[in-house]
Amino acid sequence: MTDGRGETPRRTGMTEKCGVVGVSLNGRDAARPLYYALYALQHRGQESAGIVTHDGFQQHSHVEMGLVGDAFGEDDLDALNGAAGIGHVRYPTAGSVDSSCAQPFSVSFKSGSLGLSHNGNLVNADEIRDELAAAGHAFTSDGDTEVIAHDLARNLLEEDLVRAVKHTMGRIHGSYSLTISHDDTILGVRDPQGNRPLCIGELEDGYILASESAAIDTLDGDLVRDVRPGELVVLRDDGQGFDSYQLVENENTAHCFFEHVYFARPDSVIDETLVYEARRNLGRKLWEESGVETDVVMPVPDSGRAFASGYADAASETTADGEPRDADDDGVEFAEGLMKNRYVGRTFIMPTQDERERAVRLKLNPIKSTIEGKTVTVIDDSIVRGTTSTQLVQLLKDCGAEEVHVRIGAPAIVAPCYMGIDMATREELIASDKSTDEIRDAISADSLAYLSTDAVAEVLDEERIDLCLGCVTGEYPYDIEGEATDRDVSRPDVGDRQLPADD
Ligand code: SF4
Repeated sequence: MTDGRGETPRRTGMTEKCGVVGVSLNGRDAARPLYYALYALQHRGQESAGIVTHDGFQQHSHVEMGLVGDAFGEDDLDALNGAAGIGHVRYPTAGSVDSSCAQPFSVSFKSGSLGLSHNGNLVNADEIRDELAAAGHAFTSDGDTEVIAHDLARNLLEEDLVRAVKHTMGRIHGSYSLTISHDDTILGVRDPQGNRPLCIGELEDGYILASESAAIDTLDGDLVRDVRPGELVVLRDDGQGFDSYQLVENENTAHCFFEHVYFARPDSVIDETLVYEARRNLGRKLWEESGVETDVVMPVPDSGRAFASGYADAASETTADGEPRDADDDGVEFAEGLMKNRYVGRTFIMPTQDERERAVRLKLNPIKSTIEGKTVTVIDDSIVRGTTSTQLVQLLKDCGAEEVHVRIGAPAIVAPCYMGIDMATREELIASDKSTDEIRDAISADSLAYLSTDAVAEVLDEERIDLCLGCVTGEYPYDIEGEATDRDVSRPDVGDRQLPADD
C-alpha cells in the first residue's frame, strides 16, 4: 500500500487481524446492533468494515474500506434489512490490501446465500483453493476466507448445515473464529484449538456472537460463555436461544496468549479471564521475577498501564529480593511520566530516518518533574523491532533520568505469527537473533527483563501446551511449512474429497 506520494506507510508494533460479530434478533433489524458491536471491536481492525444481513428473502451487504464510523451512513444502515446478520472489521493478513478482501465475504449459490466473517489465518488455504479451482470454483480474491466460503458452499449442496460445517472443519487447518450467515441463520465456529477468541452473549431480544465480550457490553447484553474450541453454535432464528454442536474434539487448546497481553480490550473477558486482571497479574509476576528497586515505575501508555499497575502493587508488598517490606517502606512509586498524543493514528508516514526517529516524540511526551534526577523503571507489553524502545530510553535520559530500566510483561518475540497477527518478519524482530543482554545494549537501557513463558502459563491458569506460544518459542501448534511444532499435529489431506460416512 502506498500513499499519494508513492511512499510506503510504515506500521509500528503489531496489529491484530480482525473482529467478527453475528446477531439474531426477534423481529428488530440487526444492522444497528451490528454497527455498534463493530465500533466496540474497532481496535481489532481499521482497514475495512462490513455488515451482511438477511431479511428472510434476500441478503443485503455493505462493505467499505476505512473505519466503522466512516464506512456506514444512515442510508447504508437503513438498507441493511433483516433481523439476522454478521459483521466484520478487518486488518489485512492473508490476501491483498484492497476491497476484494474486505469482509464479510458474501456469495449466493444454489441452496441459498452465505456470508462469512473470519478472524484468524488458515495455513493450508492454498491447497484447498487449488483443489476447489480444479473442481471449477472461480475465486474473486486471494484471501483465505473465500476458500472457506467455497468449501462450505460445495458441502451445502450435498448435506445439511451441521454436517457441511463439520466437513469443512475437517479440511481447513489453522486459526479461525468465524461468524457465518446461511440465509437468515447465524452460526459461530471456533477452530478446534480455540486460537482466536469468540463468545456468546444474550441480548434483550436475541443473541450475539462476538470476538470480545466488550461488544456484548456495548449492547447492554450479558456474556453467556466462550464458544468452545471445535464447537459450532447456531443462533435460533426467533432470537430465543442457540444450539450447540461439538463437531471436533481436541486434546489440547492453543489459545493465543497475546490476546491477553496485547490485542484484546482490557475490559473484555476472554476464556473466562478479565483481560485487565490478567495484565495486572502478569505485571505482579514481572516484579517477582525481575523487579528492580527504582524511584519510580511508569507505564508506556496505554499498552503498559495494567502491567505497571500490577508491578507497582507487588513492589509495595515485597522487596525485589522477595522479602516483605518494612512498615515505613512504601516500595516503588507508580507514576504517569509519559503522556500520549491520542491523535496519532496507528499508521503514519515516516519516509526518512530522521522522521522515524522523531516518531516517539510525536506519540509520547515526558513529564520532566517525574523523571529528572530519578531512577526509572518503564514497563511495556512487548518489544518488536526495538526502534521505539531505543527512542524511549533516550527520551527519558534526555529528560534527566539517572537510570532507565525496561521491563516487558511478555516473553521476547523471536519468531513471526502465521495465525494472522501482523508482527514483522524474523529479520525485523530484534529478539530473533539477539540475547536479552544484547537487546539491553542495543536500546541503551541500564537493565532489561522479559516475563518467562512459564509465568505466562501460570498467570493465565493454563498448561503451556494449551497456549499458542509460537512467536516467543518458534514452535507452533499448527503444521506450518518450514517451522517446528510444539505438539503432535499435522495438516489434513485435502486431495481426496470423499465425505466421511459418519455422523
Ligand atoms: S504466534 Fe503469537 S501472536 Fe500468533 S497466535 Fe501464537 S501466540 Fe498469538
